[in-house]
Amino acid sequence: MDLFEYQGKQYFARWGIPTSPGGVADTVDEAVARAEEAGYPVVVKAQVKVGGRGKAGGIKLAANADEVRQHAGAILGLDIKGHVVHRLWVEHASDIAEEYYASFTLDRQARQHLGMLSAEGGVEIEEVAATNPEAIARLYIDPVDGLDLDTATTWVGAAGLPDQIRDQTAELLVKLYRCYVEGDCDLAEINPLILTTEGKVHALDAKVTLDDNAAFRHPEWEEYAATETEDPRELMAKEKGLNYIGLSGTVGIIANGAGLAMSTLDVVNQVGGSAANFLDIGGGANADVMAAALEVINADPAVKSIFVNIFGGITRVDEVAQGVVDALARVDITSPIVLRLDGTNAEAGRAILAPHLSDRLVAEPTMLDGARRAVALAGK
Ligand code: GDP
Ligand code: MN
Repeated sequence: MDLFEYQGKQYFARWGIPTSPGGVADTVDEAVARAEEAGYPVVVKAQVKVGGRGKAGGIKLAANADEVRQHAGAILGLDIKGHVVHRLWVEHASDIAEEYYASFTLDRQARQHLGMLSAEGGVEIEEVAATNPEAIARLYIDPVDGLDLDTATTWVGAAGLPDQIRDQTAELLVKLYRCYVEGDCDLAEINPLILTTEGKVHALDAKVTLDDNAAFRHPEWEEYAATETEDPRELMAKEKGLNYIGLSGTVGIIANGAGLAMSTLDVVNQVGGSAANFLDIGGGANADVMAAALEVINADPAVKSIFVNIFGGITRVDEVAQGVVDALARVDITSPIVLRLDGTNAEAGRAILAPHLSDRLVAEPTMLDGARRAVALAGK
């Protein structure tokens, strides 16, 4: 789960990471009230879970109440890369001398935590990594050892940050590491981490991704879940207990097993199509599950065809075929369906489907044939 900047900053504060004083506002009047509390000048910031808000006009400095009104009015309702702004964060503006970058994340390949620190902050780190990779000081951390102050201090030196802020920055990084580990984050990123003209280092932005697998030990995360604006398709799938991820293509995908579902996405891509979703119906592909899966995909207006790709193992294909037939009797599906059924009891499965085949429900012998047909039916 991704947090909004204001939630990330509140999370940081629990580990003593310095941020600017500020508050949340959902209206122009509230923004003015928060600005009066924080003290002018302030910065009015769009709260959307997407980067590059500054460039998109979602971050504005304001010297007085009139300017807050003007900027808050313009930013509320603004569409930033498909995310509409409903909430603002208003904080006391900082005088920036330098902008740095700091983050912790998990490097699965190295099986270690990875800290990244750079004197070149404020721009996207992917850009720095591409154009000037040596400007990023990487620190691999064994989760058993953790990060101590000495190591952090050496790291700050390696990143080329000024000597006079070495200790202060090292302390902040140890706090950020604790937030990342104890707070069960997948990502804790500060960009920019700033040096103010008064010589103080603090977090001007916050990007926090929480590890959903740790939700059981964080009852307080419920408040974040409550503010999460989910993809309506994913919300519907979650209610039906399906393993679904919405994508932006036109071919709806139903497969049994995550591996097969991934492969199906790849094959659809390979033959020039694009998947509208990932959906793994798992082992229990009965009529209820199949009907639920078809309903979720059917509700997506972008879907132009549906590819059902089943390989029977423990799941028996005749049961899946019966599931499809029963589901079709219950749900009115707008898009044509392509079926590829193979594996355990495939013959029996195909026999069940045979009388139901039409130009709206077609069968193909292989995954590649099925993908080609579904892509053709989707009109691409
Ligand atoms: P992002 O563009 O979505 O990553 O939003 P950030 O919170 O990182 O802000 C983008 C940029 O706005 C920063 O890199 C700063 O240059 C500028 N900015 C944000 N807050 C302040 C502030 O308090 N004072 C000043 N002078 N600039 C700010
Ligand atoms: Mn930023």
